[in-house]
Amino acid sequence: MSKTPTFVILGSSTAGAFAAVTLRKEGFAGRVILIGEEKEIPYARPPLSKQYLQRERERERLHLWPNEFYSERKIELRLGARARRVIPREKEIEMENGERLRFDHLLIATGMAPRRLALPGSDLPNIFYLRTLEDSDRIAEACQPGSRAVIIGGGFIGMEVAASLRQKQVDVAVIHRDKVALERAIGIEAGRILTEYHRQEGVNFYPEAEASEIEGNGRAERLHLRSGHSVECDNVIVGIGATPRIETLEGSGIETNNGILVDEFCRTNIEGISAAGDVAHFRHPRIHGRIHVEHWDNARLHGIAAANNMLGRHIPYSPVPFFWSDQFDVNIQYAGFPLEWSKSVHRGSTEEQSFSAFMLGGNKLVAGVCFNRWKDRRVCEKLLSQDATVDPAKLRDEEFDLEGFL
Ligand code: NAP
Repeated sequence: MSKTPTFVILGSSTAGAFAAVTLRKEGFAGRVILIGEEKEIPYARPPLSKQYLQRERERERLHLWPNEFYSERKIELRLGARARRVIPREKEIEMENGERLRFDHLLIATGMAPRRLALPGSDLPNIFYLRTLEDSDRIAEACQPGSRAVIIGGGFIGMEVAASLRQKQVDVAVIHRDKVALERAIGIEAGRILTEYHRQEGVNFYPEAEASEIEGNGRAERLHLRSGHSVECDNVIVGIGATPRIETLEGSGIETNNGILVDEFCRTNIEGISAAGDVAHFRHPRIHGRIHVEHWDNARLHGIAAANNMLGRHIPYSPVPFFWSDQFDVNIQYAGFPLEWSKSVHRGSTEEQSFSAFMLGGNKLVAGVCFNRWKDRRVCEKLLSQDATVDPAKLRDEEFDLEGFL
């Protein structure tokens, strides 16, 4: 490594920005270059489908830090800049404008891109995807009160956008493939309860359904389903998952498989190159294999972990995966591993929208999904980090303080 090493971070979203700031916080004195494709300074994506889409949060409040924060810390922001390819042999990145950037250590934090629909009519102009601030602006502009939006996909984007648009008096229909929305993420029971809350707020659902064609005269006006049904619409929003942004790695020798393969120290198979955030498929010390976590908290913590490991700290990254979502008056928090469970135990009241569902394998806690009960989630997270076994009867009993398990 040269005397004044250069650490380059490719990707200026949450993982990349937190890594850059952590390098400085931890005393790294070399150059830090943070490259981002978008022109906006690093911002938080979670509000894009929630408060920002509802126009309840100003644009400036999305920024992780103000512009001067980076200059004060000598973090070189290269925004609106696109990398063409990573060349590990030369320790260089070739940019779209032909510039070559040398690095001593490279962190790849390029995130994910929305999976695109491939149906007749999917190129019509009023079909939207949501990943960036500008995407959120476009959806808010198009979906005015009284208009009809059809959402394809019952995942996080689908359900959060459904709740946000409904609160703006938009007529909303959600088409999804599973029995209930968010089934894979939070389980069928919690998914069913959440879907019911949405229904009570006026969201229409087409479960176990798939779109076959989008039709209209220069604009999407009608969505045909494989079942033969069709749904009239003014706009279509698509949330059918995301794929890792690894196109710059072609021919680089960096191993990928559903993301960039890294170990628990955020290292790829090539020395001096790490990866973090959504794009990383990481080895977790608690799991026999790798996991892929596509949520804000993981991006933040993984970015911090990567920076520490780039500085030679050798600290394994072994989080209890966590995410949250806000839909209508429900704050959903989930902690746990994507493992099988044999039973689930409920605590609280679904009618009052205050309850938790804990998933157990035997008496071992595997995961917990908590509706308007962040304290339950916090205890659940601690228990998971301790690999704890619990008494299901106590878990169910509201008189028993969950802290008693700790
Ligand atoms: P997602 O949460 O993974 O959900 C995608 C949904 O689309 C799943 O229900 C999936 O169903 C379905 N699907 C996949 N391919 C499909 C196809 N060809 N046709 C119809 N349906 C299809 O993804 P997302 O909602 O698009 O969100 C994008 C990313 O943003 C994800 O990484 C998500 O985690 C993240 N995000 C997170 C939050 C949060 O943490 N609160 C909020 C917003 C976005 P199957 O299960 O049947 O495949």
